[in-house]
Amino acid sequence: MNPESLVVEIPTVPIVGSEKPFPVRRIWCIGRNYAEHAREMGGNPEREAPFFFAKPADAVVPGGGTLPFPLATADLHHEIELVVALGGGGIDIPVGQALDCVFGYAVGLDMTRRDLQAEAKKAGRPWALAKGFDESCPISPIVPASRIGHPDRGRIELKVNGAIRQQGDLADMIWPVAEAIAYLSRFVALAPGDLLMTGTPAGVGPVRPGDRLVGLCEGVGAIEVDYL
Ligand code: MN
Repeated sequence: MNPESLVVEIPTVPIVGSEKPFPVRRIWCIGRNYAEHAREMGGNPEREAPFFFAKPADAVVPGGGTLPFPLATADLHHEIELVVALGGGGIDIPVGQALDCVFGYAVGLDMTRRDLQAEAKKAGRPWALAKGFDESCPISPIVPASRIGHPDRGRIELKVNGAIRQQGDLADMIWPVAEAIAYLSRFVALAPGDLLMTGTPAGVGPVRPGDRLVGLCEGVGAIEVDYL
C-alpha cells in the first residue's frame, strides 16, 4: 500500500455564524456531574472527586441525523450533556482563567453501551468500548461564547419519542465548567480543539431501534437523532 494513498480526515463540527468548522482534537467526558444522576448510578455526589473518560475525536456526529443502531449492545443509553469547545488550553489552568480557554458551547449526547459499561465496572476494566464507540457523540453546531457568553444556568433536557426522559439545569452541575477545566488540566495539557462533555442530569435510560431522540440545552442549541 502506498502511504500517499492514506487519507485521514480531521473530524469537525460546524460553528454557528462561521464558514469554518471547529476541528475536533480530543473528546473528554466528566462522569457523574449532577447529583441526582450520581445517585441513580449508585454513587455518592457528596464524596466523589470528578473523574474523566474519553471518546475518540471521530465519534462526533455533527448535527445528529439518522444513525444505524450501534454494534454489540442490547442496552444503549442516552446521556444529554452540555459540551464545551476549547479554543485555548494549558496545564494547571487556574479556575479564574479557565473560561478564557472556552471557544464555545454545544449540546451533545454521550451515548453509552450500558451493558458493556456494567461488565467493565464489574471486572475493573476500562470503559473505552462502552463509551468510545463509533458515532457515540452526536453534537449540535458550536455556538461561540462571543455570542452567548458562558451559560451557567438553563434547562437541559432530552425527549425520546416525544416523552421527557431527562431534565435538569446547568446550575446543578457539581463541578461547573470552569472547575472541570481547571481540574482536568492538572492531568493533561488541554489544547484548542478539545471538547469537554460536562456530564448528564438524571433520567438516563434505554434507546431502542426506531427511537427518536430530541435534546436541547436552553440558549445553546438542540440535537436530534433517529436510530434505525
Ligand atoms: Mn456522560
